[in-house]
Amino acid sequence: MTPSSSAVDSGLRVKAVLCLMLFFAVLGPGLWHLWKYTPWSSFVPPAPLLATDLPGAAVEIPQAPLETSQIAIPRTIVLRAAPNCPDPADAAATAQRLARDGVRRVLLQFKQDETDEFEGGSLFFPSPLAPVAAGFEDGRLLRFAEAMAAAGIEVCAWVPLLHDPAAARLHPEWQAQNVAVEEEGHALTGWWSRSKSGRMSKTQPGWLCPRHPDVRRYEATIVRAAVESCRPFLRGVYVDFIRFDDDFSCVCPRCLGATAKLAGKKSVKAGDLPAALANRSSLWKAWTAGRGDAIREVADTMRNAIEEVAPDLWLGACVLPFSANDYRLNTQSGQDLTKLCLAGVDEIMLMGYWDDWALSPGWLAESLRNAERQTHGEARVSCVLDGDMSVQRTMATLDALRDWKGERAFFHYGAWRSEVLAGLRQAEARLAEIGRMPSPASTALVVRIDTEPDSNGSYEKVNPEMIRSLLRLFAEEDIPATFVTCGRLAEIEPEVILEAHRAGHEIAVHAYDHEQLDERPDAEQIAIVDRSLAVFRRLGVPISGFAAPRNSITPAVRDRLIAHGLLWDGSEAYDPQISWLNAEAAASSTNDRAGIVVLPFIVPNDWDARHLQHLSAPEMAAAWETRLVKTIDTRTNLFVLGIHQWIVAEPGNLDAVRRFIRFAKTRRECRFVTAREAARQVLAEGARADGLAWRWNDAPEPFHLAR
Ligand SMILES: [Zn+2]
Ligand SMILES: [Zn+2]
Repeated sequence: MTPSSSAVDSGLRVKAVLCLMLFFAVLGPGLWHLWKYTPWSSFVPPAPLLATDLPGAAVEIPQAPLETSQIAIPRTIVLRAAPNCPDPADAAATAQRLARDGVRRVLLQFKQDETDEFEGGSLFFPSPLAPVAAGFEDGRLLRFAEAMAAAGIEVCAWVPLLHDPAAARLHPEWQAQNVAVEEEGHALTGWWSRSKSGRMSKTQPGWLCPRHPDVRRYEATIVRAAVESCRPFLRGVYVDFIRFDDDFSCVCPRCLGATAKLAGKKSVKAGDLPAALANRSSLWKAWTAGRGDAIREVADTMRNAIEEVAPDLWLGACVLPFSANDYRLNTQSGQDLTKLCLAGVDEIMLMGYWDDWALSPGWLAESLRNAERQTHGEARVSCVLDGDMSVQRTMATLDALRDWKGERAFFHYGAWRSEVLAGLRQAEARLAEIGRMPSPASTALVVRIDTEPDSNGSYEKVNPEMIRSLLRLFAEEDIPATFVTCGRLAEIEPEVILEAHRAGHEIAVHAYDHEQLDERPDAEQIAIVDRSLAVFRRLGVPISGFAAPRNSITPAVRDRLIAHGLLWDGSEAYDPQISWLNAEAAASSTNDRAGIVVLPFIVPNDWDARHLQHLSAPEMAAAWETRLVKTIDTRTNLFVLGIHQWIVAEPGNLDAVRRFIRFAKTRRECRFVTAREAARQVLAEGARADGLAWRWNDAPEPFHLAR
């Protein structure tokens, strides 16, 4: 699939929001659905153990500062105004802290990008041209710019342009139009059909038509005013949202007229365009060329506006990376890099958010090389990376870009706290220490079976044979697994749990009766943890891990797990296609030196796949395979498959698990391990890579609970 077919990204920062929205779009329905099946237990919990009875944390988290003298990143950061410049009294301290943290160049936000803290299009400097963000009427942004310049940081203005909800609200006639899509759910080809009402275009909310002369004038006036507001401290301007937002935008009469002229036709209708794409017809060529020209003219207008007041300012343009690979196919942006250079843009900054688009660091490296070819040395090529990726993903990205010498800037949606900057330095330091990312990376693969009552909370239909069918499968495939087991089930069926334990599999704990922990008072949560662990202690099964039912983890539960000396907590999940969670130590809420390794599992699990997404069993296996490949390709060190004994015991589902296991065996980067071993690997890598990190206590192995 080409990225052009969907509304991908819309600027430096919407990515974070998009990612979260997708995450909840996937998880939300699942959580809701599970919620309906919450089995409410009525047991009266025993009194909790006193804290002094507990063995204490297995994982210690170090506090030593990082050695930063050799670290080159982050040199350039994009600084959003609302979270970073709330109080003018902080300007000097903020600037000095950023300078100490290695920042040498800041792209400072002069106009709001999306509507969240403020309406998109609001200004962060006093001006009658557009609404000014509340609090910024006092000119505080200038104070920050001045303070940064004084701290030796180069200041550039970051100005989002054509995504401008404030302007769209005040001037509805400026809004871009795109081809109306009848309904969702159609395949890419043949998805469009003529609307019954005959309406073929719809408004793109918040996006302005790049060909509208008043739009260009308005945005150019704002850019010029931004420069004038802060001229003595500015070294450059970076424009963003300088593009169309959709393959089939803009289809206002002006844009269709321009397309018809280029195509040598009397007229063009919005409804002609989907077929033109399907056939790659001459109309399509005219459409894409015309869009590139329109964006070039916007860039031209901005260049001229800046030169009127400051001829020597550097002009950068933040662009989506897709056009670098194939402009003819990816028309979403209209960002033809060669044409942007002709407009006098000094720097093309590719937005390198590869993980948001299910792409890879290697893809980004290729995009940058292509961008250099297309700019013919007429503009500098740089890229901006996610500032809030995991350390592992940042390392993988920097590793892929090691042969590319251009500037790597970083974007962060929130406040650039020292910890965020430290994460970037840590990634660079770790990479410097290990040389290259291990290639191929070793991905620990954990098969985790939630061993529990069925979705109605009933134990009647679950039986030992379900577990035995899995034990046979794991024996045949010669792999270890981890049974995350409810205490009550272990009381009902102790023999088969002991069988799994004796076969070398790990037994971990899944509360007592699959309770929704976060719905109960803290004391009850703690009592459930204690009660469930006590069941396995009586059975003589050593426990080092816990997973809260439906990820209903709370600080009280996690603290209690840490106090019990547990090594890992499996109460988080993510879909590698759209998001990430790093396996790493999380600190206790009361003692930041004591912690536990959090091992997130992958969604969809078997419940999501079969019961929420209604995938067939082979489709479920394929979904897991896709995510495993993605995990390996991004050199993520952990993949936890989540399944349930009462779901996979069905023959088709069991076959899907077998198919997935065999697929994983063909990937030599994968090692099947228990969750306990995976957690140890996470700790060992942490310790090795930054030279100071986590230690664990000399707890006896395996992790027998005290008493
Ligand atoms: Zn238009
Ligand atoms: Zn469960």
